[in-house]
Amino acid sequence: MITIKTPEEIKILREGGKILASILYQVAKKVRPGIATIELDKMAEKLIKEAGGEPSFKNYKTREDKIPFPASLCVSINDEVVHGIPSEEMILKEGDVASLDLGMKYKNFYTDMAITVPVGEASPQVKKMIEVTKKSLEKGIGEIKEGKQIGDIGHAIQTYVEKNGFNAVRNLVGHGVGYKAHEEPEIPNFGRKRTGEVLKRGMVLALEPMIIVGLPELILANDNWTWKTKDGSLAAHFEHTVVVTKTGAKILTSLT
Ligand code: MG
Repeated sequence: MITIKTPEEIKILREGGKILASILYQVAKKVRPGIATIELDKMAEKLIKEAGGEPSFKNYKTREDKIPFPASLCVSINDEVVHGIPSEEMILKEGDVASLDLGMKYKNFYTDMAITVPVGEASPQVKKMIEVTKKSLEKGIGEIKEGKQIGDIGHAIQTYVEKNGFNAVRNLVGHGVGYKAHEEPEIPNFGRKRTGEVLKRGMVLALEPMIIVGLPELILANDNWTWKTKDGSLAAHFEHTVVVTKTGAKILTSLT
């Protein structure tokens, strides 16, 4: 079932989304050669707690038999696509690409956001991958309004990404969000126009294109969380939490 949030609930989601965006941008500013990814995680968690929120990824479980996610922030480097675990040993170096994904529970409502940033100076290929992924999220968001369908979003993302020579991940998807960290519907980053669930006013969705320079096949690392590209090629990830309105989408995880 896809839930519909009330205007009062959307107000709280917007409040939380704005705080989350501010925290994630502050953390992203700390990304530089020589920093351990655990430092980014510590900062994200501290800022979330100071704001009166809770990190929603920490101790998150997808299955009973799997270890819970041990951190507040996902930090995925280079060929890691999503769900990278921050650590003391993972030191960022010049030329790396870091995807930062952060979720927060605030006044009982969940928002979710991700950005990808270069470490130091980015190569032209990295710049292009980041730009295309960011723009593909905008394309997906641009499809949203009451009456459109889930397939319209994926179609717009896929078309834009492939036109630029990259590939969208198939086996991980965006999702509904708000009352829980993950809700229905699934939002694939590929698809056909005019297919899937019809969008209604008050639906809150987390769109998250995961874009790969090479082939869109993934492998799960030994830590059981980190998804990496099978061919070792670079990946980028951008995410916003948005609400469906009559005339379009309103981004909840933005500063303004
Ligand atoms: Mg998400």
